[in-house]
Amino acid sequence: MSQKIQKLRDAARDQTCIVPGCGCTVGVVLAHYSGVRRLSFGGGLGAKVHDLIGSHLCQSHHYEMDTGNRDKDKRWENSETFEFYCLLTIIRLYEQGIIKV
Ligand SMILES: [Zn+2]
Repeated sequence: MSQKIQKLRDAARDQTCIVPGCGCTVGVVLAHYSGVRRLSFGGGLGAKVHDLIGSHLCQSHHYEMDTGNRDKDKRWENSETFEFYCLLTIIRLYEQGIIKV
């Protein structure tokens, strides 16, 4: 299921971080979801999830999401937050015409 879509990766350049209230534009990348459901999205050992399951995150929030997955007490909450950011990113990409129906 894992699929690399270069257009989605390139689209992360010059975006603002999708986290509400952040607004950072430095170092924003397509941060691939890395939470507890990653196997369902094509992720695994050494494999990133499908490029559609990513979010535009600044370095700080990218780090926060990736490290939050390692906290056993908070990993489900972190997963839900990361998925929320991924959905916001999909809506943004649709509104920008990068994802078309
Ligand atoms: Zn941010």
